Amino acid sequence: MFLTTFMPDISEKQQKIRDLFIELKQAYQTDYPDLASYQLKFSQTKTVLGSCHYKKRLISISLSILKQNPVELQLDTLKHEFAHALAFMHGERGHGRVWKAWAVKLGATPKSRSHKPVRTEYKYQLIRKQGERIEPLARKYHRKVNLKNRYLGGDKSSLNQLYLISVEELEAYQAGHLHLAQLNFLQ
Ligand SMILES: [Zn+2]
Repeated sequence: MFLTTFMPDISEKQQKIRDLFIELKQAYQTDYPDLASYQLKFSQTKTVLGSCHYKKRLISISLSILKQNPVELQLDTLKHEFAHALAFMHGERGHGRVWKAWAVKLGATPKSRSHKPVRTEYKYQLIRKQGERIEPLARKYHRKVNLKNRYLGGDKSSLNQLYLISVEELEAYQAGHLHLAQLNFLQ
């Protein structure tokens, strides 16, 4: 199954996050011994990139956003959250002066939230299929929609050429891990 070819990819990304976490802890825990008890957790949040829980001493990184985006986005999130942990050791919460200074020092985007477009976990991609040709269209869906007898606005030639395909399958197909015949076209 294509899922097995995807697992190493996500675990590779997770490893990069873990490595950076350890690297940051080692770099600063001599000066800030409280960092030693901080732990890293992967969460399933769909829209929140990450968080820093001062009391639990826990930094959470969204695994579903990690899956759907380049690893750089969540490496940046980890630095962002790590800067929160450090700023809190100076008594500051939120995105104030101390946090900003740490964010710059760690190389995080010194803004409260990333303005990069974040891909959330859509399940299905709308595509147009003409014979062997698959053309991904600009729409994605969280759940199945009925596409029988539907066509693109004003373009009746697309009648019954519209299908949904799971985002994972489409990516596997585009990466060459799946053949056309292995794809499930949903209408
Ligand atoms: Zn923040």
